[in-house]
Amino acid sequence: MTHFINGRRVAGRSGETMAVLAPATGEEFTRIACGTAEDIDDAVNAARAAYEGAWGKLTAAERGRLISKLSAKAADHFDELAKIEARDTGKPMAQARADIEATVRYFEFYGGAADKVHGHVIPFLNGYSVNVVHEPHGVTGHILPWNYPAQMFGRSLTASLAMGNAVVLKPAEEACQTALRLAELATEVGFPDGAINIVTGRGHEAGAALAAHPGIGFMSFTGSPETGKLVQKACAENLIACTLELGGKSPQIVFSDADFDAAVPIVCKAIVQNTGQTCSAGSRVLVQRQVYDDFIGAVAREFVKLRAGTPEMDLDCGPVINAKQRSRVQSFVDQAREQGIPVIAEGQIAQGVPNGGFYVTPTLFGPVPRGNRLEQEEVFGPVLSAFPFDDEADAIKLANATSYGLVAGIWTKDGGRQQRVAKSVRVGQVFINGYGAGGGIELPFGGMGKSGHGREKGFMALEEFAVTKTIVHKHG
Ligand code: NAD
Repeated sequence: MTHFINGRRVAGRSGETMAVLAPATGEEFTRIACGTAEDIDDAVNAARAAYEGAWGKLTAAERGRLISKLSAKAADHFDELAKIEARDTGKPMAQARADIEATVRYFEFYGGAADKVHGHVIPFLNGYSVNVVHEPHGVTGHILPWNYPAQMFGRSLTASLAMGNAVVLKPAEEACQTALRLAELATEVGFPDGAINIVTGRGHEAGAALAAHPGIGFMSFTGSPETGKLVQKACAENLIACTLELGGKSPQIVFSDADFDAAVPIVCKAIVQNTGQTCSAGSRVLVQRQVYDDFIGAVAREFVKLRAGTPEMDLDCGPVINAKQRSRVQSFVDQAREQGIPVIAEGQIAQGVPNGGFYVTPTLFGPVPRGNRLEQEEVFGPVLSAFPFDDEADAIKLANATSYGLVAGIWTKDGGRQQRVAKSVRVGQVFINGYGAGGGIELPFGGMGKSGHGREKGFMALEEFAVTKTIVHKHG
């Protein structure tokens, strides 16, 4: 009984289920339904009925009030949700708690924003009034990954709901428990049946069926570039738009005048947060050559203190999500070692972690040769790659040397340089003398190039989940 369709938990039509493993132990702790095209059909039909019925009839203020009630309800269930999230993803409890805090904040933000999406009036010919209004797409589809499942529910679904759409979610097969619980809590606070629907299961089955469904008016996808392409192709067949939030290889650019005391802990946190499984992880640190040894030496002193453990141990890192991800991260580390790229520092896997858990050792490599796989490819694990650069132009060239373009951090006291570099880096979000991997629910977020397109978070997300209608009234 894992889908959530039309206001209740239901079993999958096929009866097939799959195991979900706890990353901390590698042991099965539950099973989920393997959603099929039929289940997706049921979910889209329920959403359509809600959109044309009780949910669609609510005013913007009423929708906002419901989302705000969900915010209060989720806050009441804070510990329960944090424990579910930690078990599902293996993340340290402090990270799980921070995630639920952010989820509650998303509900708070979009609850408050729902009735503040105003249209505008265009001065036109004499005898005419022109109004531009924002309307919902109808039913929106959401395909989400496993790294921040609760936050993604807050970020993607709630923005769409605030705009008046009914939603169908296909969460990641590895981690869908918080989304299911949040949908139940939403029903408890009064969301009409069918406003929120969730179909669990495999990507190439349930996910592909959702992306291709003709009843969807807009698709929000977060995940890998490879799957993003498939989703975009499916959307093209139905001639609908989509946002793609894909990966990143985000640089932290450290100039010689940077405040090291401020930068070092944040550079470390930006790669170990969520065990490096953050699309906007600061996975490359670019350091001006004359301070490279000093700065990287300071980062190394922090790196050797890093420990990976179970959620309850609450250390710097948890396990990664599954065995496949662990092999992937390990293959980057092994290949880099074989290529003779120096390991500057390593953290440790804490003593006493369960043998079956998916733990990896946080590792700092450098100097990494330009063009190397560690520069070009997303590891999605706690692996930081260091690169020296000569001057500002070289720093910009290095920052833009990958096909990704999600976030960049710039560390310098020089105001002119801050602005020049911020304008020159080809990314969707820039932090100057700070870094917020995944942070800032108010801040428009999204990529360029292989990192995807479209913006989520903040008010801008509401525009993505809406269509603009221009109403021309000739009144003589
Ligand atoms: P993934 O692309 O394999 O899976 C993401 C989702 O897509 C899952 O729900 C999966 O079931 C579904 N899916 C898989 N195949 C599908 C198909 N053929 N059709 C439709 N749906 C399908 O990615 P992942 O491994 O779960 O997540 C890790 C990736 O996500 C990383 O590359 C990471 O950078 C990226 N990511 C990006 C952001 C962002 O906001 N930019 C956030 C988190 C993760």
